[in-house]
Amino acid sequence: TQAPVNVTVTGAAGQIGYALLFRIASGQLLGQDVPVKLRLLEIPQAVKAAEGTAMELEDGAFPLLAGTDIFDDPKQAFEGTNIALLVGARPRSKGMERGDLLEANGGIFKPQGEAINAGAADDIKVLVVGNPANTNALIARSHAPDVPADRFTAMTRLDHNRALAQLSKKLGVPVTELKKLAIWGNHSATQYPSVQHAEVSGKSVDVDQAWLENDFIPTVAKRGAAIIEARGLSSAASAASAAIDHVFTWVNGTPAGDWTSAAVASDGSYGVPEGLISSFPVTAENGQYKIVQGLEIDDFSRARIDASVAELVEERDTVQKLGLI
Ligand code: NDP
Repeated sequence: TQAPVNVTVTGAAGQIGYALLFRIASGQLLGQDVPVKLRLLEIPQAVKAAEGTAMELEDGAFPLLAGTDIFDDPKQAFEGTNIALLVGARPRSKGMERGDLLEANGGIFKPQGEAINAGAADDIKVLVVGNPANTNALIARSHAPDVPADRFTAMTRLDHNRALAQLSKKLGVPVTELKKLAIWGNHSATQYPSVQHAEVSGKSVDVDQAWLENDFIPTVAKRGAAIIEARGLSSAASAASAAIDHVFTWVNGTPAGDWTSAAVASDGSYGVPEGLISSFPVTAENGQYKIVQGLEIDDFSRARIDASVAELVEERDTVQKLGLI
């Protein structure tokens, strides 16, 4: 039988962690025949709550769960880890400037990058969920010089799934009939959900521009706020579900003739500065995400992509000035 895959989850006692861990334990992260060992990282104040979650995991009697360990030290939490899900982050509080937020997150993602560099397994794959996810991933990566840059990714799969759901409702077709949607840029309100290359049942998607600009794009980009408004809490189960999708696809590949979206290190494609962690249409094969090449970009898309990438450049410049990268 296969040795368990080590999966480290940070912020394990949080809302997303609570939804995520049970899906990992049930085999949905990697596949139904792959045993997993969970390594939970929390800040010291939240270790007790993580222990409670670990008790519930034990009570699930999951056949694929080979054990759960809890840590408050990143060095230990990332020792030998194969998959790292970086969920815990410093949320923006009232009156906090973007620089303060980035600085607080530097204090989290710098030591985590260093710990991954020092102790993670050679095949380590990192997904950053905690916001500002793209730039947090950039910080972690810059402190892990021995890890190939393409192993650090940030999550835009929830945005991708939200876009699929909205388009499916608009066209009155199941999501399975839709292909080649794409999220470009930053996981923020500037993100660009694009239907330019999208297909419905093999044909190009025909929707009017006013719906795209006034309805589809803002609904996808502001969905997080709409959920907080309705639920009184931020989206957690859908975020966890998208994290599962991101890793499952990374490991198991995209189907022929389709792609998905993920924030990955730019290779300079589509005018996105090299090294920036930006969302692109991507395929996955042999455990690697690859940016879809050679797409024509129309003027509307160009302007939207450029605006979101400009925000990423600004975030990068801020963390550079703060000495975080
Ligand atoms: P959640 O579990 O709800 O969210 C965790 C992070 O995910 C936040 O940064 C949140 O960003 C982000 N996120 C990304 N996409 C989404 C989405 N679609 N919907 C909601 N959130 C999204 O936060 P909790 O406060 O419940 O839990 C956080 C936990 O992390 C706490 O237990 C805390 O102790 C822990 N923590 C651990 C650290 C560590 O291990 N070193 C460091 C810091 C915190 P946003 O705030 O923008 O919604």
